[in-house]
Amino acid sequence: MNLKNKVVFIVTFLLISFSVGSSVLNYVKSLEETQIQLKERSLPLSIDNIYTEVQKNLIEPTLVSSMMANDTFLKDWLMHEELDVEKIAKYLETIKNKYNMFSTFLVSEKSGNYYTAKGLLEKVKEGNPNNAWYFRFKEIQEPYEINLDFNKYMGDSLIMFINYKIFDETYHYLGATGIGIKISYINEMLKHFRVKYNFNVYFVNKEGEVVLSEVGVNRVSHLNELKELSALSSQILEESSKTLEYTKEGNHYILNTKYIKELNLYLLVEAKIEEFTQEVEKTFILNLMTSLMVTFIIIAIILYTVKGYNKKLEHLAAYDSLTKLPNRRTFNLNFEKALRLYKRDKVPRSIIFFDIDNFKLINDNYGHLLGDTVLKRIATILNVQIRSSDNISRWGGEEFLILLHDSSLEDSFDVAEKLRVAFENDIELHDLVKGGVTSSFGVTSFQVDDTIEKIVTRADEALYKAKHQGKNCVVKG
Ligand code: GH3
Ligand code: MG
Ligand code: MG
Repeated sequence: MNLKNKVVFIVTFLLISFSVGSSVLNYVKSLEETQIQLKERSLPLSIDNIYTEVQKNLIEPTLVSSMMANDTFLKDWLMHEELDVEKIAKYLETIKNKYNMFSTFLVSEKSGNYYTAKGLLEKVKEGNPNNAWYFRFKEIQEPYEINLDFNKYMGDSLIMFINYKIFDETYHYLGATGIGIKISYINEMLKHFRVKYNFNVYFVNKEGEVVLSEVGVNRVSHLNELKELSALSSQILEESSKTLEYTKEGNHYILNTKYIKELNLYLLVEAKIEEFTQEVEKTFILNLMTSLMVTFIIIAIILYTVKGYNKKLEHLAAYDSLTKLPNRRTFNLNFEKALRLYKRDKVPRSIIFFDIDNFKLINDNYGHLLGDTVLKRIATILNVQIRSSDNISRWGGEEFLILLHDSSLEDSFDVAEKLRVAFENDIELHDLVKGGVTSSFGVTSFQVDDTIEKIVTRADEALYKAKHQGKNCVVKG
């Protein structure tokens, strides 16, 4: 792996680790917070809200029933032969209207008469399944009950009755009274809790029987039906409020309980944790996607930049920065290749080695900057004069080496001569240096047993001869 790939790999690894790590950390923290929020704040707060609502919706009717059962007028009326039916009907109607109940009723133990706001309805009989509730209720210990029942006189809809026993001063049983409210109200209330808070709310009695729940939502009718709840039932059926947890079919639930004394029922509020963590999961996935996307964009930018720098570095390593000509290193690569090819195809190849005359003087007289300009001008002339298929290089200082393909010694001599004249007569060079700029040339062609060193040495020696012959000339080597 080269350095570039190593750096990209490390940066990618770090960025991905960081983005995934921080997303996961955030997720775990949010998950924890959501659960704490649910357990310590939302559920207890909601249970209080629900309790308030329950009080509004259930306790009032219970109190009304209790009030009726303790009303001396009602007791007196029962004890005095139930004479004026209209009077009791009026009483029941007044209460029904005042508290906005669905129905109010009174059953006399002595006569077996069942009265409503409309007057005498029927006589309760033990064998009548519609009246079974009365005979059952009479036998129970508690002074009152909440009873869900279908009532054929009320359109066969499910009604919640709050039945209260009536006793005289000597605790002699006189009958039962109470109110009925349409269960749909309660169902609406429970539905409201589910929709508003996402909680499943239901009520169980002391025996663990589910007496009130939203139609079609709570599938258990007794805590024992579900082994997870059954295991908790002894804790649920205690008077102190509890926060319990259980797992059902891989889902986690938090269960808050509260005993409602007035109803003698336990209020159970259940929350499925997964429903509350869904948002956290969504945020996690979104965060992860975003950070991964940002990571990939950053990596793409890094790759692009590194590639650009690499190209620049490669160019710097291969070309001379002043003249933009290939440097000695690049030239050598072509040179070696050409020599190998020559040994196979024997197609003549030659080199021209030249050195600017008295360049030190130019520098001394006109300054280094002008010297640089002269070098650049020489490079420009080379680029114009030399075929693009041949290779030019700045060999060093003010020395240049040219590789001519498919050129004999004579050909290279001619090219060198052409260059010599071009330099000598170049107007721009004349503008820069008084009297112009000249160069001395050594040319040589490839031989069968040549090496790079041998060729360069021959050319160098020829150039040396040219200098000694008075400069500004071409010598064959
Ligand atoms: P000769 O005719 O014998 O070649 O004499 P010369 O003065 O050209 O040769 P010498 O080797 O004495 O001097 C070459 C000078 O070229 C010396 C060096 O400072 C200068 N030189 C080398 N590279 C650069 C360059 O990139 N820019 C400039 N301005 N001068 C350079
Ligand atoms: Mg020199
Ligand atoms: Mg020189």
